[in-house]
Amino acid sequence: MNGLMMEQPLLISTLLTHAERHHGEQEIVSRRVEGDIHRSTYRELAERSRRLANALAARGIAFGDRVATLAWNGYRHMELYYAVSGSGAVLHTLNPRLHPDQVVWIADHAEDQVLFFDLSFLPLVEAIASRVSTVKAFVAMTDRAHMPVSAKLPGLLCYEELVEAHSPDFTWPSFDEKSASSLCYTSGTTGHPKGALYSHRSTLLHTYAAALPDALNCSANDVILPVVPMFHVNAWGLPYAACMVGAKLVFPGPWLDGKSLHDLFEAEGVTMSAGVPTVWQGLLAHVEGNGLAFSTMRRTVIGGSACPPAMMRAFQERYDVQVLHAWGMTEMSPVGTVCTLKPAHRALDAEARMAIQAKQGRSVFGVDMKIVGEDGKALPHDGKAAGELMVRGPWIISNYFKGEGEGPLVDGWFPTGDVSTIDADGFMQITDRSKDVIKSGGEWIGSIDLENIAMAHPAVALAACIAARHPKWDERPLLVVTTKPGEQLSRDELLGFYDGRIAKWWTPDDVVFVDQLPLGPTGKVQKNKLREAFQDHLLA
Ligand code: ADP
Repeated sequence: MNGLMMEQPLLISTLLTHAERHHGEQEIVSRRVEGDIHRSTYRELAERSRRLANALAARGIAFGDRVATLAWNGYRHMELYYAVSGSGAVLHTLNPRLHPDQVVWIADHAEDQVLFFDLSFLPLVEAIASRVSTVKAFVAMTDRAHMPVSAKLPGLLCYEELVEAHSPDFTWPSFDEKSASSLCYTSGTTGHPKGALYSHRSTLLHTYAAALPDALNCSANDVILPVVPMFHVNAWGLPYAACMVGAKLVFPGPWLDGKSLHDLFEAEGVTMSAGVPTVWQGLLAHVEGNGLAFSTMRRTVIGGSACPPAMMRAFQERYDVQVLHAWGMTEMSPVGTVCTLKPAHRALDAEARMAIQAKQGRSVFGVDMKIVGEDGKALPHDGKAAGELMVRGPWIISNYFKGEGEGPLVDGWFPTGDVSTIDADGFMQITDRSKDVIKSGGEWIGSIDLENIAMAHPAVALAACIAARHPKWDERPLLVVTTKPGEQLSRDELLGFYDGRIAKWWTPDDVVFVDQLPLGPTGKVQKNKLREAFQDHLLA
């Protein structure tokens, strides 16, 4: 016997309709590429998204067509999120930090029909315009007064003109919730980038789960500033969660330096933010260097790579900002685990609590996890056994876009490429990515632990630990670090810092000091580049 409940497809447009109806006056504040602050509301977002949906239809964008963006976090990008997916087309957020050749490859692979871009990316768009074979129209996301004149982009369209020229009367279509809604490519450190194609259903289910109190904890009382870009796995779902709960949204545009962010946090009363550790480093340096504080910020989600405990301590102990350590992947929409403590942990002392918070956290409902050994057999959840982390759930990919063959799943589970432990309370801790693992004399050494210790040293700005070839042990850990401005640090001093903090044989063999670590398009250290440069360092 079936239940007697209404059957309504889970569609992205319903988030917008809800926000308009129930939170119409709630604000969306954006710092624009032009430098000024723009203020709008969910009501305006909904109206302008409908106008844009009409504009897309008028340009012949059909159900399932891909519409690409090269854009920062801002209200126009948010309008595209809803107009494109809501009307049944697929929003493809291109990552502007990729090499132009890669952008071309990805746009061609996705068969993008239209490309919307922020003015900062005009040079990039000019460089690729003649090479992206399927793009029929380019749209500059600005008004007539700021429209560039570009010989390389004849027929360039103006975003504001498109919006103004079309009627706000548009009824969001209803269709199968399994339809594709958006597309995001992994940065592809090996081989070609791969596309994760989200559906309306997967996005809505992910949004419900991500907004929960023990996940990202979003509410109508929040002022959310996503630092994580809207081209990096949909800003971790915050543009959807904000509509679901009716939170005020603040978008930083291209200004992601410490001062710009802190000014915006304070001016707009931001309560919650999210981003990768490298961004928070700049923010903390600015706040520390200028004797500032956070007057409204209560918590920040840190993920994308491991959050060093030293950073957590700074936020929590010095500035009273709670850190939510989170783990996920492009292939997972992205939220998989969030580290929020359980009641039993309240009785623990600060050090013991910090040890738990350094973990990547427990799975949100909807994400099933297991760890397996090299033979594929499940390992115990005892907090000690480490194996490859496998996941499954309704917002985890089953195959890549245009993926050939059987796809990545193994017995219905997606292999994450991360090596982790899971403890009896369900807290997962990543020790490494499988390709970054250091295998010394047949034993694994966790590079993340070694990096976290280095980053707890007051003179260290950023640290990465890689496997360097070794004549006796096959591989040994090598530390590559940058120091904070004006700080002096010797190799022996830093290696001495490991004494008592870790098993002696885990101590890195050497330290290489560099001016800068190579950062990838999503702000993570590119260890493959470091390996290329330094893997023979210990053989010399
Ligand atoms: P890519 O880096 O390949 O572009 P993603 O941005 O989807 O893809 O990154 C996913 C990977 O980032 C995870 O598999 C994991 O290795 C790493 N990662 C994400 N969050 C964390 C975290 N909190 N701690 C450690 N590693 C993390």
